[in-house]
Amino acid sequence: MKQLENKVAIVTGGASGIGKAIAEIFIREGAKVVISDINDKAGNDFINNCEGNNAIFVKADSSSPKDNEKIVEAAVANFGALHVAVNNAGIGGESNPVGELSIEGWNKVIDINLNGVFYGMHYQLPEIAKSGGSIINVASILGSVGFMNSAAYVAAKHGVVGLTKTAGWEYATKGVRVNAIGPGFIETPLIENALDKDTQTYLASQHAFQRLGRPEEVAELVLWLATEKSSFVTASYYPVDGGYLAK
Ligand code: NAD
Repeated sequence: MKQLENKVAIVTGGASGIGKAIAEIFIREGAKVVISDINDKAGNDFINNCEGNNAIFVKADSSSPKDNEKIVEAAVANFGALHVAVNNAGIGGESNPVGELSIEGWNKVIDINLNGVFYGMHYQLPEIAKSGGSIINVASILGSVGFMNSAAYVAAKHGVVGLTKTAGWEYATKGVRVNAIGPGFIETPLIENALDKDTQTYLASQHAFQRLGRPEEVAELVLWLATEKSSFVTASYYPVDGGYLAK
């Protein structure tokens, strides 16, 4: 039996990188998946390459409450229920020290990376509570330590961890587990487009394995948190960071 047979899942930011790897492993394990993303070309390309009718794409901006409601409605309308949600959509944002970080740059990252997770859970939790299930929020190692020139990103990811711990407590006895994960630096377009090769090499050296992680390595942890194999795990934060935080 596949691990997510008869389960319905949402993956936000599912058209690229970590979200795409999560959507792929969910589909492989039998889930029906609603992939949402702001990039409709990449989202539709992904769906068109999926076999069967196991996935749909919804164009949605995670920083919009209405769009988050639309994603949950699409899951229920197309697949009849909602059991798992992965709030993954995120951006890197402006690279500047706090005194030079623009107000717009701050607000944009907080809107997508933190408010987006709240809006997602606000609509997902009541629906998942009807049948029981699991929410996984994609934070970062920067949800527990600082990083130069990335204050908005670091603050948003710390916020996601706090939000997760609280929602985990609020919904544990209502049948919904809520956890956050903290990836180290992972080979995705977010890193590849934002950082030059020298910076990527330096960041690789900050992991015990002396390399960046791969999206599939993050997706395996998310799969475990999505299934009942992690039935006693909630309100928690799991690094998947190649040893970064231990240094
Ligand atoms: P990515 O750029 O490959 O994928 C992010 C996806 O989110 C893209 O498809 C993008 O179109 C989508 N997106 C961006 N803004 C959106 C919005 N407003 N609404 C809906 N979708 C939107 O990046 P990734 O590395 O796969 O990042 C995924 C998540 O993982 C992010 O939350 C990121 O902060 C987190 N993360 C990444 C790393 C890393 O090193 N790559 C490390 C830790 C955490």
